[in-house]
Amino acid sequence: MKHYIPDVYKEFNCTADKCPDTCCKDWEIVIDEETESFYKTVRGNLGEMLKDNIVTDSDGDRIFLLNEKKECPFLDKDRLCMLQKEYGEKALCKTCFEYPKLSFDFTEFTEYALSFACPEAVRLVMKSGSYSFPDTKPIENDDNGYSKEVMNFLIAARKKTAEIFLSPMPYKTKLSNALAFNEYVQELLYCEDTDISLLSDVEFELPEGKHCDNGFVFELVSRLDIMDKEFLCDIQKARNSRLIPDEKINDEFVKLSLYYLHRYYLNAIADEDVLSCVKSIFCAYAVISSLTAYYHAENDFDRRVLIYEKYSREIEHSFENVEVMKEAYYSDSDFSSINLINTLF
Ligand code: SF4
Repeated sequence: MKHYIPDVYKEFNCTADKCPDTCCKDWEIVIDEETESFYKTVRGNLGEMLKDNIVTDSDGDRIFLLNEKKECPFLDKDRLCMLQKEYGEKALCKTCFEYPKLSFDFTEFTEYALSFACPEAVRLVMKSGSYSFPDTKPIENDDNGYSKEVMNFLIAARKKTAEIFLSPMPYKTKLSNALAFNEYVQELLYCEDTDISLLSDVEFELPEGKHCDNGFVFELVSRLDIMDKEFLCDIQKARNSRLIPDEKINDEFVKLSLYYLHRYYLNAIADEDVLSCVKSIFCAYAVISSLTAYYHAENDFDRRVLIYEKYSREIEHSFENVEVMKEAYYSDSDFSSINLINTLF
């Protein structure tokens, strides 16, 4: 098994009470069996609190019962975890111990990343010289439970898409080329034509169409289940705000794009869908760039970090929201690659 671990992953430390947000709110935190067994041994006040604040959700998972502020009941007034304070890291369930560290296990290799739903993770990635994109080598074995040929095709197509985002062009041109290239990749996947040599020297044929407005992205977002209603309201107010990005903001959008490719592209080994990943980059760019302009955050790095984080928490990390978006990518002609490209110029 090969492990591809980026430097930022090793450098990450939770900023705990210094965090401008907290991951101990809004989300249902699933408690693994081993940790729950430990909780049953805890006595005193914390033991009583544990008894009163762990419930079974509709999926049968054991979770912490959030308080009226939708926060974990073990988050104390200093914004620290009472359980960790008392018993150290061993008191953290697997979910809390690992977050925001992610791993993607493809049997023969595992890739690691930090989730953008944590502001410290965003800060580390955006401040680092370049995104640590995994240099994943072609796989060698046929017994991983998926096709070796298709996986090697996807690894090569992802690398090529990452090269598009890293090439010296305006960000919007990169995004259009990435959409056009992945239309081609998607076609090859549908035809089961996964010879890697077909990915070399592909000419990008950008459509000649009339510019159109990207308002349909904001309409789609208005239908999502977004917990922070103020954020949802701001997204709608931001829909006509246009950002004129400078070099540093373009560099952030490149890192955002590489993050999505890193996190989602190889999932196509299961669903044969590479286009949704690139269309999700498009939507993230459309909303985040408008919010940056709306908040006048062009020169405010900390504010931008919170925009990336909030978008990730509310949209990227919600299974239901992602499903609604994918449905639109498949069935709504506004979300065809050609139409998306036409909004960019
Ligand atoms: S969001 Fe990140 S930095 Fe903030 S408390 Fe959670 S893990 Fe720590």
